[in-house]
Amino acid sequence: MPELPEVETVANGVNDRVRGQRIESVWLSSKPQTFKTPAAEMEQDLAGCRIIQVRRVGKHIVFDLENGDARSGVLLQWIVHLGMTGRLLVCSPEVPLPAHTHAVLGLSSGRELRFVDPRRFGRLAIFRMENESVEPSHQSTAQGFQGPGQEPLSIALADFQKLFRGRHLPIKSALLNQKLLHGVGNIYADESLFRAGIRPKRIAGRLRKAELERLHVSIQTVLREAIKLGGSSVSDYVDADGVRGFFQLQHRVYMRTGQPCLVCGTPIRKIVLGGRSTHYCPHCQR
Ligand SMILES: [Zn+2]
Repeated sequence: MPELPEVETVANGVNDRVRGQRIESVWLSSKPQTFKTPAAEMEQDLAGCRIIQVRRVGKHIVFDLENGDARSGVLLQWIVHLGMTGRLLVCSPEVPLPAHTHAVLGLSSGRELRFVDPRRFGRLAIFRMENESVEPSHQSTAQGFQGPGQEPLSIALADFQKLFRGRHLPIKSALLNQKLLHGVGNIYADESLFRAGIRPKRIAGRLRKAELERLHVSIQTVLREAIKLGGSSVSDYVDADGVRGFFQLQHRVYMRTGQPCLVCGTPIRKIVLGGRSTHYCPHCQR
């Protein structure tokens, strides 16, 4: 499942390719579970809109849209969640439509934006923001769809520490709780805890201030590193119709069960926490 860095990479790649384009035609499949907004309504909302920008919010990809009549006081956003296997592709209409295509937007550039999702855990929705005081051209990224939880890449240390206060659950489980921080999944939780030297089982509310400081830094470092790595491989999954996996961060603990820790040589241990496999070094993480 794509995590925050992959979603950010896809959002940036799509933004580079479709920003400023007008949506000239809309085709949606008849698979109802894909659409959180009824397909007929979505089709009507999207047609004719101009794509102002595409960006990541949590693990969602948000298209900020401008419709022909911005004076109506409502701005639209198209919200795409990739689920397990969802992909956004930008290609020429001549490229044959892959199986499991659920949305095709014809763009003013002559290219198509396609949403393809074999497993159908992905979701498409329209978000309306009432917009009485702000001109569309002044939209800031703070507006509109926010999703649950705080943004791990920009949360201040004090707010980060507050998130875990009084929480009687393992820190690993707290990191995966999307209502606290959004977008941190299993891989990056394990990798961040390793770099911060914290055992996944430690109770979140009992971590010391210095430990939370280290964790705050390590989460942001790990995510930024992954985004940087992903940026170079974006064409593999946005352009054309190839099916390529996401890049992999140089994992230090994740899926390295039994292999020597890269720091101290102790075999990496695997446990199950809250139903999720969890990897850590019993020597480096306390
Ligand atoms: Zn170690």
